[in-house]
Amino acid sequence: MKIGVLALQGSVKDHIDMLKGCNVDSKLVKLPRDMGEISGLIIPGGESTTIGKLMNRYGLDREIKRRYSEGMPIYGTCAGAILLAKEIVGSSQPKLGLMDISVKRNDYGRQVDSFEAEIDILDKTFKGIFIRAPVITGVKDGCKILGDFDGKPVMVEQGNLLVSTFHPELTDDPRIHRYFVEMVERSRNLL
Ligand code: GLN
Repeated sequence: MKIGVLALQGSVKDHIDMLKGCNVDSKLVKLPRDMGEISGLIIPGGESTTIGKLMNRYGLDREIKRRYSEGMPIYGTCAGAILLAKEIVGSSQPKLGLMDISVKRNDYGRQVDSFEAEIDILDKTFKGIFIRAPVITGVKDGCKILGDFDGKPVMVEQGNLLVSTFHPELTDDPRIHRYFVEMVERSRNLL
């Protein structure tokens, strides 16, 4: 089984290293043809406008949506979460728009541009690294909030979609990647 990491811009290598730590092979995804052999996709943090534009330019948005409609799980961190949201408040930037959440970019405020916080996810404690993170401002029925911080959701699951507004790939704690790997394994068993 291979999990792809969208490699257009952003923190790609850290996800590859995390997957290696989970004993999962990975594949850099730069073009639609790179998606053939993958069973799940991670969209990393970075700059969501840049990633969104490049995704459209290379036709990756269409291929990602097609594979998603066939049951391929997707995990978006930070900019990846923005790209997966159905609504990006105040922005018409290109996106995938698959998950029933709304997000507001860079909304933790300038002074706290980036910060670390202890967060609770599924009743366990994690180190959350937030870097110019979006705030999830709305979550519709069908979305499961897995963790929150400061009263706002920071990790949400809906069907085969997972998002976190923080960066587990920048820690040495593989639990969240393992959680996604299990989602991918379950989806393969359904094929
Ligand atoms: N601020 C970035 C954006 O709006 C996201 C930051 C990140 O991915 N760490 O796209």
